[in-house]
Amino acid sequence: PAEAVPQAPEDPLFGLMAAYRADTFDKKVDLGIGAYRDDTAKPWVLPVVKKADNIIHSDPTLNHEYLPIAGLQSFTSGAAKLILGADSPALTEKRACSIQTISGTGAVHLGGLFISKFYPGTPTVYFSNPTWANHNQIFSNIHMPIATYPYFSKSTKGLDFDGMKNAIADAPDHSVILLHACAHNPTGVDPTQDQWKELAVLLKRKEHFPFFDCAYQGFASGDLAKDAWAVRYFVEQGFEMCIAQSFAKNFGLYGERAGCFHFVTGPGADSQKTIERIASQLTLLQRSEISNPPAYGARIAGLVMNDEALFAEWEDNLRTMSGRIISMRKALRSKLEELGTPGTWNHITDQIGMFSFTGMSEAQVLKLRDVAHIYMTKNGRISMAGLNTGNVEYVAKAVDKVVRE
Ligand code: PMP
Repeated sequence: PAEAVPQAPEDPLFGLMAAYRADTFDKKVDLGIGAYRDDTAKPWVLPVVKKADNIIHSDPTLNHEYLPIAGLQSFTSGAAKLILGADSPALTEKRACSIQTISGTGAVHLGGLFISKFYPGTPTVYFSNPTWANHNQIFSNIHMPIATYPYFSKSTKGLDFDGMKNAIADAPDHSVILLHACAHNPTGVDPTQDQWKELAVLLKRKEHFPFFDCAYQGFASGDLAKDAWAVRYFVEQGFEMCIAQSFAKNFGLYGERAGCFHFVTGPGADSQKTIERIASQLTLLQRSEISNPPAYGARIAGLVMNDEALFAEWEDNLRTMSGRIISMRKALRSKLEELGTPGTWNHITDQIGMFSFTGMSEAQVLKLRDVAHIYMTKNGRISMAGLNTGNVEYVAKAVDKVVRE
């Protein structure tokens, strides 16, 4: 009977957003939301996206027909080149397939679904502790066993690399290892290139299957190739792997749900035939899940990725976003250091991407909300995009006060 359905808990992040909206204090600050804001705390439509939108809408033949099941081909091929690199062996040897998804979330889900159906045995998916909260739910919903590997060191506020390696080494062979391609959410802490190389050796030895989640390419450093380095390195090493790719942050297309899922097979005589079969199965799964993906965001991103001048303008827009975030990291750190706030604050500028894991306790987070109307998730994560030249001093002073209490 329907009465037996229990109440589900509210999503913590969306609940936080609602509390912020309801707050009438004029100096309130939103450091919860994982979306870019400009220096006036407003959402930013990328100028290149506006331009692409005008071009698309000036076409009198534009219509609202369905896209193919696998999505807009110019978008998926552009997306593959973006993440793998145009000269990737996976592309020249035709051993990658790409399917348009409902943003990054849909790509993680489709990949999980594919693995749960076709991966031999019942592999456990290992993800970092902590990770993006949705990983847990997405894999649990499709009944995949889940486990975690240590990731964040509370003492250094950096990577717990030994803990990470030990857990991955102890995991049963052939496990699925979920890795954030860059700008780890929520910690802002990434392995160095040397550490990625060590991880590749370890995953190879254990015959683990890497599943990259890439939600911040270009947004982290402002350099698309640099942010894709780990993924490209693993491809070079001949791994068979999955990649979930989101265009929410790097194009500011959050609500348009533009994303892509890629499967790459290892090199081999049969790899092209294998990838064709994998593509056919992904298409079949997609048909029953969403039938076909949404068109608008894919048209915008597809147009930009396939046009040299628009692409260059996009890179410029990316540098504007990542540059503003990096300057806010510097500003927050230097204000805290000026104030002599107890503790060390180098991690604010060491960490990269949208988020910083401040190390503040839940009690301190709640106090900041109550006393200063500053909103952040309970784990002490702040969205750097919520800071601007108008509020960074206010935030630093409030943090200083709370940390001293
Ligand atoms: N993975 C990670 C690690 C993320 O941070 C996000 C965005 N919050 C996503 C995937 C996907 O988000 P979306 O579905 O909006 O693309």
